[in-house]
Amino acid sequence: TSLFAAVELAPRDPILGLTEQFNADTRSNKVNLGVGVYYNDEGRIPLLKAVRKAELARIEAAAARGYLPIEGLAGYNRAVQELLLGAGSPLIAQGRVLTTQALGGTGALKIGADFLKRLAPSAKVAISDPSWENHRALFEYAGYEVVNYPYYDAATHGVNFAGMLAALESYPAGTVVVLHACCHNPTGVDLSGEQWAKVVEVVKARGLVPFLDIAYQGFGDGIDADATAVRQFADAGLDFLVSSSFSKSFSLYGERVGALSLVAADKDESARVLSQLKRVIRTNYSNPPTHGGTVVATVLTSPELRAEWESELGEMRDRIRAMRGALVEKLKARGVARDFSFVLKQRGMFSYSGLTAAQVDRLREEHGVYAISTGRICVAALNSRNIDAVADGIAAVLA
Ligand code: PLP
Repeated sequence: TSLFAAVELAPRDPILGLTEQFNADTRSNKVNLGVGVYYNDEGRIPLLKAVRKAELARIEAAAARGYLPIEGLAGYNRAVQELLLGAGSPLIAQGRVLTTQALGGTGALKIGADFLKRLAPSAKVAISDPSWENHRALFEYAGYEVVNYPYYDAATHGVNFAGMLAALESYPAGTVVVLHACCHNPTGVDLSGEQWAKVVEVVKARGLVPFLDIAYQGFGDGIDADATAVRQFADAGLDFLVSSSFSKSFSLYGERVGALSLVAADKDESARVLSQLKRVIRTNYSNPPTHGGTVVATVLTSPELRAEWESELGEMRDRIRAMRGALVEKLKARGVARDFSFVLKQRGMFSYSGLTAAQVDRLREEHGVYAISTGRICVAALNSRNIDAVADGIAAVLA
């Protein structure tokens, strides 16, 4: 019998399965809203001009490709901290913040999960209901029991905030609470500043371990506005973890550029924590790749490229907002009675559209419009050429 005879086939990734089905669809007017990627109005993943310039400069410099330090590029890590906490953050000045470059936001979550597991092996992890589909699997694979806290309220297209708070209040001290800092995936529904203040209060009072996941900074209301949650935790004097990603904000999906940051009690503690994170990294992939981190650091620290990136990020944000508005208007124009104005209040790349699994099936089968069975659509994949077909399809399945 073969060595791997007992290996079972793992379940297929549902979103990748949908993309395979989309690719096999021969209809010319098909639209894929099942993805988690920003497309420009031409339907392509943009290569940002600021990124292109930094890449050309890097090639021109003919830099040697030695190993990076285990924790990554110092200039990159510092730039990440400033984006998250603001350049003038006293925590950075006090040496309380440590950052390691990571393989995307996913890699950052995994480094944090492995580190925390060794620190407190019996702690549970709580994620939002619903959450990014990889949160549960990632923490379970790191050895945790994962529970859900109430989050989305389908009746109001908003947050079940009372339910969320009650769950947080019920957890034992040390429970790791994963929080979407902005642009919640998959719902698009975020907490208000006041609600974050309340969450910070409960997390502090209960001794929970906040793990903020920020994968869409700049896609909601702007770079600083989207960091509100992170900065509220910082201002409250709490220790916490943040996983961040530049996959979307720099359109660098495949380069795997992210970071794990921790705020510790003081400089000495942060040095000890960093030494342990370096062990996690060293034993997994030794050190991060050079290209993405160098490009992002170059853009963030060059005033000219930084300004260009901020404007390109602003264009992506504005285009998404415009598509949200256009979808609401076009559904209204087609006589759809249901009020879709909530789509305009949601933030980031996604919208929980409120469509049922059966309506999503009809949308795909009869109109070639692909969405997730939960009703999640990627509004960042809408454009001026496909939006009418999408509105026609939605209007038809709701009629
Ligand atoms: N966290 C959330 C909430 C996400 O939506 C995503 C990507 O979809 C990630 C993390 C992972 O980002 P990355 O592709 O950089 O690993």
